[in-house]
Amino acid sequence: MKRKLADIAAMCGGQVANADDNNLIIHGVITDSRHIQQGCLFVPLSGERFDGHAFVADSLASGAGAALWERAKGNPPGPAVLVDNALEAMQLLAKSYLAAVGAKVVGITGSNGKTTTKDLLFALLATTYKVHKTSGNYNNHIGMPLTILDMPEDTEIAVLEMGMSGRYEIEFLSKLAEPEAAIVTNIGESHLEQLGSRLEIARAKLEILSGMKTGGLFIYIGDEPLITEVLADPNTPKPEQLHTLTFGVNGNHDIYPSGIMFLEHGTMFTPNVGETPLELPLLGEHNVVNCLAALAVARHYGVTEANMKEGLKHAELTGMRIEIIEGANGVTILNDAYNASPTSVRAAVNVLNKMKGYRNKIAVLGDMLELGEDEVQFHQEVGEYLTTENTDLLFTYGRLGKEIAVGAKKHLAPDNIYAYDDKSELIHKLISVLHPKDVVLVKASRGMKLEEVVEAVKHSK
Ligand code: ATP
Ligand code: MG
Repeated sequence: MKRKLADIAAMCGGQVANADDNNLIIHGVITDSRHIQQGCLFVPLSGERFDGHAFVADSLASGAGAALWERAKGNPPGPAVLVDNALEAMQLLAKSYLAAVGAKVVGITGSNGKTTTKDLLFALLATTYKVHKTSGNYNNHIGMPLTILDMPEDTEIAVLEMGMSGRYEIEFLSKLAEPEAAIVTNIGESHLEQLGSRLEIARAKLEILSGMKTGGLFIYIGDEPLITEVLADPNTPKPEQLHTLTFGVNGNHDIYPSGIMFLEHGTMFTPNVGETPLELPLLGEHNVVNCLAALAVARHYGVTEANMKEGLKHAELTGMRIEIIEGANGVTILNDAYNASPTSVRAAVNVLNKMKGYRNKIAVLGDMLELGEDEVQFHQEVGEYLTTENTDLLFTYGRLGKEIAVGAKKHLAPDNIYAYDDKSELIHKLISVLHPKDVVLVKASRGMKLEEVVEAVKHSK
């Protein structure tokens, strides 16, 4: 974003202070004082243990052109826009900027697959439009406005990921961005602890409808009855003249695949809305499903089949989502260590099911966090889901991981199950049993940091 300081003040309902030049050009918005860029606007956010205002003077000294400054904090130490609340002002600035750019917005929410779907949709749309997307996982009330403020002036379509950990967060994001099209990838169990039930999770995700533009297009996973239920509920706020499309693996959806073929480094399938097979550079049926949602939106915006094919080839995906890594000793690692919930672990185990020609299939699974009071049962059920088809050896890590080991005894021999509380011990044992031609799936919640296992396996000889 490039604007005069006075314009920024008008866009966020603030007042310029201490500036010699109202026409000062501000370039970009930054909230982290360690990453100041020349001429940017520094936004001092406050958390429980810090107050961003403490970094304003340093940010200005490091080259920021001006800062937002909350009136209650007294006089700003340099050029500033006075506001009541810096976060709210930044959100308003983002909303005004989005309106000024005039980009259409596609919002993506769901329990799993948002980032992947966002990356795939970007790749498809970028063949035909100037597109901007959420970088990494900047999907909350801070990240999404920053994504918008980072958008080039000539953006035609913004693909925005919308995440949440409780009710009314998606509503806020949707009302800020006002999507013309919205996707709900799935309803899982993430944040069950905070929300209490899967129905409540579905309600939270469908808040994305509340800010949508009239006549918008809502694309959702057709296999989830809870979405149908919430959608049909007259109390669910939704736009006038909403169009809907469903996607899913089965033929009873509007968008579905046929002839799925699982290859070594990707997946081929033919969508019912196309003529020829597409090659997706990702493993797993769950990613075919994510891709269908992206295809539906791309089709809506008129992207041709040839461009879709080309776009997918160049898709740039975010790491640690079933990322294929070749280890130094010829082991194949499936790095899915980014996060985990029962739904997403099952999806990853299904990938192992389809893998052929490996010596041992090894699953390294750790705690799935924030699942609420039934967490032990959820872990045991994931263990019961493992069979000799997909898992020759199981390594679990953590207190809840142990419950996966308990459940796994249903189908796996006890000798093939190793449960650890100590990550170094796990790594030591794992490396001692590895052979070239093994495949190792690594997956747990973010807090378990299982990427350390990935790194160790990657470099082991
Ligand atoms: P977050 O809420 O953390 O932002 P996300 O919704 O953006 O997550 P991704 O980062 O795309 O999701 O994928 C995270 C993990 O979820 C993947 O590693 C994979 O295991 C799983 N996953 C992705 N898509 C699906 C899907 N459609 N169904 C089930 N699991 C999925
Ligand atoms: Mg994400």
